[in-house]
Amino acid sequence: MCYNKKGDYMKNLFEYTLEELAGKFERLGYKHFNARQVYSWIYKKRMWDFDSMSDLSKPLRTYLRDHFTLEMPRVKRRQVSQDGTIKFLLELADGHVVETVLMDHPYGKSLCVTVQIGCSLGCAFCASGLKQKVRDLSSGELIGQILAVEETEKLRISHLVLMGTGEPFDNYDAVMRFIRTVNCPQGLEIGARKITVSTSGLVPGIERFKDENLQVNLAVSLHAADDATRSRLMPINDVYPIRTLIDATQRYIEKTNRRVTFEYLLIDSINDSMQDADRLAKLLRGVNCYVNLIPYNPVDELPFRSVDEARHRAFYDRLIRGGLRVTSRREKGGDIDAACGQLRIKEARD
Ligand code: SAH
Ligand code: SF4
Repeated sequence: MCYNKKGDYMKNLFEYTLEELAGKFERLGYKHFNARQVYSWIYKKRMWDFDSMSDLSKPLRTYLRDHFTLEMPRVKRRQVSQDGTIKFLLELADGHVVETVLMDHPYGKSLCVTVQIGCSLGCAFCASGLKQKVRDLSSGELIGQILAVEETEKLRISHLVLMGTGEPFDNYDAVMRFIRTVNCPQGLEIGARKITVSTSGLVPGIERFKDENLQVNLAVSLHAADDATRSRLMPINDVYPIRTLIDATQRYIEKTNRRVTFEYLLIDSINDSMQDADRLAKLLRGVNCYVNLIPYNPVDELPFRSVDEARHRAFYDRLIRGGLRVTSRREKGGDIDAACGQLRIKEARD
């Protein structure tokens, strides 16, 4: 936490949406467009020194210097995988560490961001769920993950996935503020269609999200087509069972006219039988969606195993025959535990 010489609390400028900053400036007698200038300095020109923001008036520069910080997480560790995926361990201002993963794709650089420290939803297969939630991340801390990685690697991120530690819809407001800043033409300018939010199925979050009027992609972690198996894997299913979840997702699709992705993790002898595939095909028939089959990335302290190639292929083929649109995600960074949902636990141990 930072205080100026008069003892006033200094706020992190990355916490402000453009509109909020403009409103604040106007209340103080500065101009609405000054916010756009400041945004352009920090997000486009990456200028971290208020005094060098040459098109701002001297009083505004002084005001900014006295009342704001430009606080970014510190890169504590950087680990490169054989496939080029880089896992960053980032230290926040209060000393907590979060992980962020940079993936290199033919279509650009994608960043998997962490939205909470730990996760309360306790999915049985997930490393993040082994750690109870400590706190939510603020929108500025979410933005800080992008900036810290871009500054370290000297590159620009083109795609974002909210699939690191935590549940985005359990930190709804910060996530929306983050998306708006990232998406804003004066901000980081990452197109909404290049952003994917993954939810474990918090139905009230899906209901709210459908009314945001954003072109962001929604992914829903399904992982089972029957309630008994899903509840075993994901306790949240006891609160929002499959039918309730699919109905809410349908309403989202109808309202937004956007196709949803259902993520399905293949776990050996749990959800990988041909009956499971048939049940899934039946459940999603007629829903405007893709199924994304994800190989399970085993976690040392958990009993679950991944399936072999042949099983993965057979499941995939069965879904296709069942009339679904299916994509198959290959996990990146498996050798450095950088696969989504794998984050943080290793570091907590060493
Ligand atoms: N909380 C959100 C987003 C973070 S998890 C959610 O659950 O959707 C992102 C994705 O990684 C989810 O689909 C999750 O089920 C998956 N995941 C979790 N642990 C995994 C593991 N060990 N291997 C592969 N995917 C995993
Ligand atoms: Fe939390 Fe998602 Fe992991 Fe479940 S899969 S414990 S919701 S991070």
